[in-house]
Amino acid sequence: MLKSIWHTLGDIRLAVILLLTASATLLAGSFHAEDHFSLFMALNHMRIQDWLPVQWASRPELVWWIPVLFVIMALLGINTFVCAANRCLRLVGQRRNMARGRFFYLLIPSLVHFLFITIMLGHLASFTMGRWQRIPLAADSPIAVSPDAPDYRVAAIQDEFYPQASALGGRLRQTAVALVGAGGQALQLQYGRPAFIDGRFLLIDKAPQGEKAHKKPMPAGPPPARRPGPASTEAAQGPNAGQPLLVIVSDPGLAVIILGLTLIMALMIGYFLFKPKSAMWIAPVAVLALLVVHPAAAAAAESRPEELAQIEGRIQMLSPDPAFKDDRYGLIVVKEALTSLKEGSGGIGACLVHEQTGEVVCTGRNRQYRPYFRSDLHAEMDLLNRYEDWLRKMGGRTSGADPRDCAHLVLVSSVEPCPMCLTRIINSGIKKLVYVTPDERGGMVSRMDRLPPFWQDRARDCDYRLAVCSPAVRQLAGDLFDFSVRTWDKKKEETK
Ligand SMILES: [Zn+2]
Repeated sequence: MLKSIWHTLGDIRLAVILLLTASATLLAGSFHAEDHFSLFMALNHMRIQDWLPVQWASRPELVWWIPVLFVIMALLGINTFVCAANRCLRLVGQRRNMARGRFFYLLIPSLVHFLFITIMLGHLASFTMGRWQRIPLAADSPIAVSPDAPDYRVAAIQDEFYPQASALGGRLRQTAVALVGAGGQALQLQYGRPAFIDGRFLLIDKAPQGEKAHKKPMPAGPPPARRPGPASTEAAQGPNAGQPLLVIVSDPGLAVIILGLTLIMALMIGYFLFKPKSAMWIAPVAVLALLVVHPAAAAAAESRPEELAQIEGRIQMLSPDPAFKDDRYGLIVVKEALTSLKEGSGGIGACLVHEQTGEVVCTGRNRQYRPYFRSDLHAEMDLLNRYEDWLRKMGGRTSGADPRDCAHLVLVSSVEPCPMCLTRIINSGIKKLVYVTPDERGGMVSRMDRLPPFWQDRARDCDYRLAVCSPAVRQLAGDLFDFSVRTWDKKKEETK
């Protein structure tokens, strides 16, 4: 019961549903936010728990989507956590079978997921624990940055304007605010250049345009102009349009967010730089050096080993999905296909399964190019050779005279068999065949009606079809096959 709840929570389909719901909620919310901009802008400098109850009481129809979004994000966080935790547990289980470097390499995506959750928690902290203070700036006025630290004092406020002759003539270019601390320490602030002191960000902002917009006359004389002191009428009337405000932000979530993002970036760089099974770091450095030194090598190296390593990583992460009855064997033939590719032959694998016991009787893979060129050694041919040789060693078929009596066997191939292999399979007496991925260009099973009548007749009571496999396994079988087809096409291109 608990286990099924756990698995439902970590289901990737749940993640998709949640993401779609979050998008729909955000879309609905964006219409409200557009129509009531200033209402939602207030959230930028208010804690959510101070803002939401007030708005909820007066305008629930405008703000309903915010708590909904919080619930969806919380569920998404739980989903991400469970999903990443499951993956980590699987990896830890397989740890004995892999090198330490590879283990950490495969761990990185899950670590990134955990960091993503940390960043979401950082945002939650910003929403609930952030504090924003807005203080009108006037020369000589005291500024209390934090309750525990002595006050600062505004030493000077200087506006700089664009030259009258320029296109922006007379417009404000920058405002510099100098603060002096009790100990005499000076602090310079400008628009877009905040300072960080006593655990708080200090930035300058402008009082919003609009209410009582007391228009300041453009300075006639040459800039810079000096603002009047606190005795002026302007300061006495409170913040005016264009008057600088000091914003003091205390945001405990920000450090978490920045730290999380930095770590994610570092991990991603590590992930893409350090490939598994390389001598940890020497190999990528050597490859990089080679690429820089010899541009021709770049073309040769391309991304082949990298792509293969990536496919291998995907295979290692996969376990058969019991919802698909052929998935277990699909994964076995996919692994054979990978071995074949690593040996330098084609990316196709095959196996023979005893239908009643489910036991894998024999495995085979493409061996066309290694150890030497053999045009007949497609995966299915290799498999049947091995099986028939083994039978011979065992003293022939136990059931009697007919060497084609193998009704109990199912041949599983990672790719739809070609004409040569299909006729061989028919000829072998095997009545059941499943293949993980179709081959539209070279596959013969989907074109059995074009076989010569003799072979069509022979295959009449055969059941040859696409395997029932999970999309992940099917994709892998296709990717491995594509990989070898591309390599082959490229070789042909080069020898032209
Ligand atoms: Zn073949």
